[in-house]
Parts: sequence; structure tokens; C-alpha cells
Amino acid sequence: ATAQIGVTGLAVMGRNLARNLARNGFTVAVHNRSPQRTRSLIAEHGDEGSFVPSESLADFVASLERPRAVIVMVKAGAPTDAVIDELVPLLEEGDIVVDCGNAHFADTRRREEALRGHGLHFVGTGVSGGEEGALRGPSIMPGGSVESYRKLGPIFEKIAAQVDGVPCCRHIGPDGAGHFVKMVHNGIEYADMQLIAEAYDLLRAGLSASPAEIAEIFREWNGGELESFLIEITADVLGHTDAATGRPFVDIVLDQAEQKGTGRWTVQSALDLGIPITGIAEATFARSLSGHADQRAAARRAFPDAGEKWQVDDRETFVEDVRRALLASKIVAYAQGFDHIRAGSREYDWDIDLGGTATIWRGGCIIRARFLDRIREAYDAEPELATLLVAPWFADRVNAGVPGWRRVVADAARAGVPTPAFSSSLAYFDALRAERLPAALIQGLRDDFGAHTYHRVDRDGSFHTRWAGDRSEVEA
Ligand code: NDP
Repeated sequence: ATAQIGVTGLAVMGRNLARNLARNGFTVAVHNRSPQRTRSLIAEHGDEGSFVPSESLADFVASLERPRAVIVMVKAGAPTDAVIDELVPLLEEGDIVVDCGNAHFADTRRREEALRGHGLHFVGTGVSGGEEGALRGPSIMPGGSVESYRKLGPIFEKIAAQVDGVPCCRHIGPDGAGHFVKMVHNGIEYADMQLIAEAYDLLRAGLSASPAEIAEIFREWNGGELESFLIEITADVLGHTDAATGRPFVDIVLDQAEQKGTGRWTVQSALDLGIPITGIAEATFARSLSGHADQRAAARRAFPDAGEKWQVDDRETFVEDVRRALLASKIVAYAQGFDHIRAGSREYDWDIDLGGTATIWRGGCIIRARFLDRIREAYDAEPELATLLVAPWFADRVNAGVPGWRRVVADAARAGVPTPAFSSSLAYFDALRAERLPAALIQGLRDDFGAHTYHRVDRDGSFHTRWAGDRSEVEA
């Protein structure tokens, strides 16, 4: 046995991850169900490092040093279970199975428990950054045991993206913690993209600007607090011209956003945990709304002129309003995402370091951004921070952004330009800071129709008013 780590599943992600490992000096065992993929990897990239190819899973396992570390990089769901079932009888106590696929954290928890029963470590690992990331340095979010990280850590930290000399990889926590954090990461990515899309739509409607002109605005924004990979590629996409028609590329793309489901998982989990992640939820629903072409066509016919004409007078102020509204809404989305991670960590006993999590998203992944450093600083300074919104750096940006945020959302509402994420983030902000919420009335209604009781502001205890009778109050 000579290989330090193995990869089974050599489609685009597994192949690139194996190459990344080999390029970093590790001896990598490689295997794929259809041997053709293994052969082509060796034929095309065998000279990039030290590979040990096998055509059977048994040979593959036998080629690994103990304790064995096997990365499974196959289609998520049933195929992952099938590969694990095949692997388990070939492994020995203390060996490590790493699932780098996009698994749901609940599946990871189930698999971890099952493999623990066999004396094996199961490490559900979130890998972000797509195929380029896998090859050149992804953001890696491993769950599983501390013991397994002793073997995997030095390998993963070497192949991960590096920012300021710090690897974009750290042990997230036990069992499903890694896949959970990867899931929320994807949810935040949905919110980030929706907010960018709304900012573009506002600029286009308010300024009657061309996509190329808006590309310039995003390019400028990328020089400041908003600097991030997504803002950078927004400028690229908006600036691109369709070769076939000569029209702006963004105008020839069908306006129906697709999704693979991690946004939905994030929202479902947040509902289970009772965490209001309105930014991610609006972004997820906005994608599904965009896909309902029949309803959109019917509504377009029924309400052709429901918005008012929009004429922005002061271009510079408007662009700055949109920028600040985008930053403030983005802060809300991240605050909610980190609340979600904290709630998951508490519910499942994961003890996740929030600041550390922000650190490993700084490189290798889609949401990489300068502002993640500020998130790390905020949680490092105050691990029990009530909400990211109130950390000084973020509170300053939100405060500075509020007037513009309100103007933009109000103008958009008048003009009939939809801003689900901008406006729901503003509503979330206002609800959080409200002295009194109308939730008091909801409690009254619940007590009236269902005797669900309420608490009083002035006395301890649960109370019920006899609504159908003499309206006297009784202690419940
Ligand atoms: P795919 O998800 O397309 O999966 C193809 C691979 O799965 C092939 O190696 C295939 O083997 C193998 N496979 C499918 N069914 C079985 C089975 N029953 N038994 C054994 N092997 C099977 O590959 P990707 O490289 O795109 O993704 C791999 C994983 O990484 C997925 O879980 C994906 O969600 C995740 N991921 C993908 C990202 C991306 O950007 N693509 C980013 C991050 C994570 P064969 O060649 O024999 O058909």
C-alpha cells in the first residue's frame, strides 16, 4: 500500500480533486465505477503527480496506507449509499470515508452513525468552488470526528484555497456539521445573487441605463466594500455582448432561474429550527417564481400598467442609494445565515466557530468576498453576538445605508419594480429594531379563537380572557 489518500468517483469534481491532491505532492489512489474515466485521467494527467489507479474497488482499497482515507465523489443520494455499502466490507477499524458530494446533512448524520457502528469514521465534507475550485483550491468544510481530522486536516489544508497564508479549510464540527455549513453557504449564495440581480434591475429601471453602463457601475463597486467574486463576474456578464444578435447577453437569456435544491434545503432547515432567514427564502422563492411562465404571462396581460413612471433626477445619489441598499441587504442575509448556523450548531451539538467559518469562505468559493474578514472579526470579538447587524462595522454600514435603502425600496414599489430581497431585508431590519411588534395582536387573536393564552408585559404567568363570556381574565 502506497497511496496516502484515495478518490473514488472521477467525474469532473473527483478528477479535479485527485489532480489537486497529486499536484500538491500526495500519492493518490484513483478509482471509478466505469474504468474508462480512471484510464483517461491517467492518460491525460498522469504526469502531474503520483497516481495509483485501480479498476476494482478492492484493489483501490488495498492500495491505501492505513488508516485509509477514501474520498467518495459520486452523484449525491442513492449512488453515495451504494458506494459506501460496497466500501464498508473492504475497510478496517479506524479507516475514514470522506463524502465530498453535495449531501443533505441529515443523510450525513445517518451515514456517520451507521459507519461509527463499524468502527469507521465518516466525514461529510462540503466542497465549494465548482470544478475550478476542486482543481486549483476549493473552500473545504469537513465534518466528522476530531480524530479523522488529524489525518485529513494536513492534506485538505494543503489543497484548499489560501488567503493571506490561511487555508480555506478547517474542521467544522462532528457528523453533519460540514455539510450543514456548506448548505447554508449555498443559501447565502442564493441571497447574494438575488440581491445583485435586484440592484441591476433597479439601476436599469431607474436610470434607463444599458447593461454595459451598469457593468461599469458594478466594476466601480468592486473597488470598495462590496468587493467580491460575484460583483466582479456581474460586471463581466453585464458587459458581455451576444455574438449571434449583437444584443446585450443578459437580454437574450431566458429569465427563468434554475436551482439544484440547496436553497430549498436551507429554507426547510431554517423553518425546522425557527430561524427567520428571509433573505435566503425570498431568493429561493424568487427563482421559483421566475419559472412560473404561465402565471407570469397571465398576470402581465391582466395588469399591464400597474406601476408608475419612474424618473430618477439625481443619478449619482441614486446609484449610491442602490449600492448602500445592496450592502445593507447583504449584511441582513449574512446575519441571518450565521444565525442559522448558530442554531444548527446548538441543536445538533456541533460547537461551530462562526468566525472561523467566515474565514474559510474567503477563498475558493462563489461567495468569497472582502467583507468576510469583517464577519470573522465581529464573531472573534464577541462570540455570543446577538446578531451580526449590531457588530460595529456592520451597524455603521447599515446606519449609513438606511435612508437610501428606504428611498430605493419605496421608489421601486411605486414604479412596480419587484425587489423581494431588498424590501424583505428592510422589513426584517425594521421588525428587529421595533419597540413593539404587532405580534401582541396575533397573541390576542390566538387566545380569542383558540384559547392559546398569552403573557402579559406587567406580570409573570400565562393568561386567558373569556372572550365568549364576560371577558374576565383568568390565569391559565
Ligand atoms: P456527478 O454528480 O455527475 O456524478 C458522476 C459520478 O458518480 C461518476 O463518477 C459516476 O460513475 C458516479 N456514480 C454514479 N452512480 C454511481 C453508482 N451507483 N455507483 C458508483 N458510482 C456512481 O459528478 P460531479 O463530479 O459533477 O459531482 C460529484 C459530486 O460532487 C456530486 O455529489 C456533486 O453534487 C458534488 N459537487 C459538485 C460540484 C460541481 O460544481 N459539479 C460542486 C461541489 C460539489 P460512472 O462514471 O461509472 O458513471
